[in-house]
Amino acid sequence: METLAPFKEVIDEIKEAGGDIFKLCFQCGLCDAVCPWNKVRQFSMRKLIREAAFGLTEIEEEDLWRCTTCGTCPDQCPRGVKQIDLSVALRRVATEYEVFPASVKSARTARASLISEGNPIQGERAKRADWAKDLSVKPFTDDMEVLYFVGCYLSYDPRMKKVAAATANILKKAGVEFGILGEKENCCGESIRKTGSEKVFKDLAKKNIKTFIDKGVKKIIVSSPHCYHTFKNEYPEFMVHFDVVHMSEYILELINDGRLELKGEFEHRVTWHDPCYLGRHNNIYEEPREVLKKISGLKLIEMEAHGKKSLCCGGGGGRIWMDTPQEERFSDIRIKQAIEVDATILATACPYCITNFEESRLNLEYENTIEIKDITEIVSEMI
Ligand code: SF4
Ligand code: SF4
Repeated sequence: METLAPFKEVIDEIKEAGGDIFKLCFQCGLCDAVCPWNKVRQFSMRKLIREAAFGLTEIEEEDLWRCTTCGTCPDQCPRGVKQIDLSVALRRVATEYEVFPASVKSARTARASLISEGNPIQGERAKRADWAKDLSVKPFTDDMEVLYFVGCYLSYDPRMKKVAAATANILKKAGVEFGILGEKENCCGESIRKTGSEKVFKDLAKKNIKTFIDKGVKKIIVSSPHCYHTFKNEYPEFMVHFDVVHMSEYILELINDGRLELKGEFEHRVTWHDPCYLGRHNNIYEEPREVLKKISGLKLIEMEAHGKKSLCCGGGGGRIWMDTPQEERFSDIRIKQAIEVDATILATACPYCITNFEESRLNLEYENTIEIKDITEIVSEMI
């Protein structure tokens, strides 16, 4: 057990992450009451805060790496404590000391791949635009209406490439002049930052910002809520502001402007999963629902935990790269919640959610019970 008391670096990092605000915590435990971890195992953010506020953190502890940054508990805190910032600050210290529990080691592989190839999943940089080869998607030029920032999972992951193709199809059908960056695109860096690798985040962000400026990018369409969040809320730390639109919002805009016409009947019972970084972190709840409601034949049904109370898929905060035992996966619970409301499709708009749900669907043997779809895949079928 590596207890360092008082651990000066922890206290310094905490000061940098918001200072004495952590000392405001009066240990009410409201954060623990809403944390999704307590559905599958014991985990106490309250305890982490108390230890950290006094520099008593055990940096080997696996709990340092548990928070998925789902955003549920910050809203509950009567004292305004920023629990996510605290988790990230502690991870920065552990990263600096290179102290990682076994379940976190795979996040190191992601980090190395980000440094060498600009993506966390060991895809070759030169192959970043391969998904678009037969789809006549053009490289971005400054006379184009929008840049489509594809993101890492949609560029390389076989399941997620289908979402990139559906997105390109929608943009083309709506007559949007768009292009992609291909090899010049780097991971947005959102998730690696949450694992405490601040320098890797900054390097990725600076590369993207330079490319956006060099290429004359004005409006950016993104598929991932994590790209959305970081471009919108974190890149301004570098004194830049880009017009960022999530694809679920853009589809609604295209329909309302009469550029995209929906045809046919979609006879399915669909439930919408609010991704944490679209919903709680960025307040986009209604736009995707409005799109789904415009599809003829589609029956939209809500799970009890929806909107602000949506259950995290377990993939945020870099957890997508860490090992989670099957009995502790939030995505298993989420799939069961979707089945409980008799949905035949669990729809969402986040690469981490889809990756986790597809894995749970397979492990739970629900392949014939429910499908997982990105909103673009549904819309692409109906145009
Ligand atoms: S909700 Fe706020 S005050 Fe209560 S234990 Fe959590 S961090 Fe502390
Ligand atoms: S942000 Fe979410 S996962 Fe992290 S401690 Fe709060 S409720 Fe738990």
